[in-house]
Amino acid sequence: MTTSPDVFQKIVSHTKEHGFIFQSSELYDGLGAVYDYGPLGVLMKNNLRELWWTSMVRLQDNIVGLDAAILMHPQVWKASGHIDAFNDPLIDNKDSKKRYRADVLIEEFIEKLEQKSQKETDKKATKEGWSVDSDEYQRFLKGNRDAKKAQETQEKFSVAMENNDMVALKSLIEECGITCPESGTRNWTDVRQFNLMFKAQLGALAEESTDIYLRPETAQGIFVNFLNVQKSSRMKVPFGIAQTGKAFRNEIIARQFIFRMREFEQMEMQYFVKPGTQQQWYAYWKSERLKWHATLGLGVGKIRTHVHEKLAHYADAAEDLQFQFPFGFKELEGIHSRTDFDLKQHQELSGRKLQYFDPEENASYLPYVVETSIGLDRLFLAHLCDAFTEENVPSGNGSEETRTVLKLHPLVAPVKVAIFPLVKKDGLPEIAQNLLNDLKYNFQVTYDEKDAVGRRYRRQDAKGTPFGITIDYDTLKDEAVTIRDRDSMLQTRVPLVQVKDWITKSLSLQSYFKESK
Ligand code: ATP
Repeated sequence: MTTSPDVFQKIVSHTKEHGFIFQSSELYDGLGAVYDYGPLGVLMKNNLRELWWTSMVRLQDNIVGLDAAILMHPQVWKASGHIDAFNDPLIDNKDSKKRYRADVLIEEFIEKLEQKSQKETDKKATKEGWSVDSDEYQRFLKGNRDAKKAQETQEKFSVAMENNDMVALKSLIEECGITCPESGTRNWTDVRQFNLMFKAQLGALAEESTDIYLRPETAQGIFVNFLNVQKSSRMKVPFGIAQTGKAFRNEIIARQFIFRMREFEQMEMQYFVKPGTQQQWYAYWKSERLKWHATLGLGVGKIRTHVHEKLAHYADAAEDLQFQFPFGFKELEGIHSRTDFDLKQHQELSGRKLQYFDPEENASYLPYVVETSIGLDRLFLAHLCDAFTEENVPSGNGSEETRTVLKLHPLVAPVKVAIFPLVKKDGLPEIAQNLLNDLKYNFQVTYDEKDAVGRRYRRQDAKGTPFGITIDYDTLKDEAVTIRDRDSMLQTRVPLVQVKDWITKSLSLQSYFKESK
């Protein structure tokens, strides 16, 4: 994957052109940070959700599923702390009238300093002949002017965030000389807290209606159902509850495509453990989730871990798995040790006991929770960015051409097989249609008989279809077909009767997931 803003723009255009993602309400000039998934997008999104569900529920013997409603009693959000503390600090530039997240402006400033420091160090190392792991290199990397400034800013930033000190955030923005990317000026308003929850009205009459909220995370549906699930499914601690579903946040900045959306989908698993064992489970789930990503092609070098500087109000440890998007390493998934904060809060506010009776200990307690939380849309974007490739390949006439190919993991790819009769006559389309009718019960299959086969291959490359099957004149004699591999472009001759087995083996969940165990 190439990392540059140009590439990101190409990826965004590619998703529209091929029916992966469209701007919501585009007809009316769009709705900011809201997107629709097109024919290929919905298939790929379903695959990712299904892969997550399989590994988190189906392949586990102590994790069960849930599908809680989006609308919940307003007290839920009081108890969870979202009404009081689910805020982002916002700041406006008076000249451009553009709104920013104050914390993001500072974080980006620090990141730029770190990049400058890295560049400077690499330049110096080339001149001096230092290796990356030499003491001189490391000393210069930490000790140069930009690195020191980054460190100093980070320290002040952490304190301001820790204390929710909006005045200190504004002062830091001024002190660092941060300018508005749009107007280039430093004419800023004060920093204000902004609650990210969407409000709605429940009830027909305005005077009788109650304010409710669109859920900003799926987790609370799991917490309030904790005992319902535990008792009905006879679960014993440690056990997990998994859920996928929509969440809504009135994000201040609507940039970076589906990375930050106002309506998005989360896939969360809350693992209930005995108090005191949370660190061990936290390490376990972090490692499991890293393995899962690696199995699907997002392995070492593409994902790094990042420990939270400022812990959320509910956590005693938190780490992000960050993916290298074209705009830098950014959070893809959160692993959080949430203590018994949520259960305790719900117990207090509802006045109902949420304690678990542990038959082995012969005691009741509130379990601690370790959570894995990933955005399905962000995962989609990570796979898309990782897969997008432009490469030179030999063309039919002996010269070279550029092909755009989505090298998606075969389990993630929206369409698995494309079937092409070489020509539209002599019985080849009939054989192709019979094959399609046989395969379609097991796989997402497509059929294409228009244009030269080379062009049909390119069309499927752009959609990320891993296997292309061609029925040619030899098929009439040897009852075999050619299967072309999308990435290597190698072709294998396979007897027609063995095609289904061949594809089944190539897409075997068991072989991918067993190997990673
Ligand atoms: P960020 O710091 O990027 O705003 P967060 O720390 O608020 O994210 P969490 O509350 O931990 O995110 O949510 C868990 C996951 O949900 C994130 O790792 C991310 O994948 C996804 N997510 C959160 N906010 C959004 C959003 N606005 N659009 C798309 N996905 C999101």
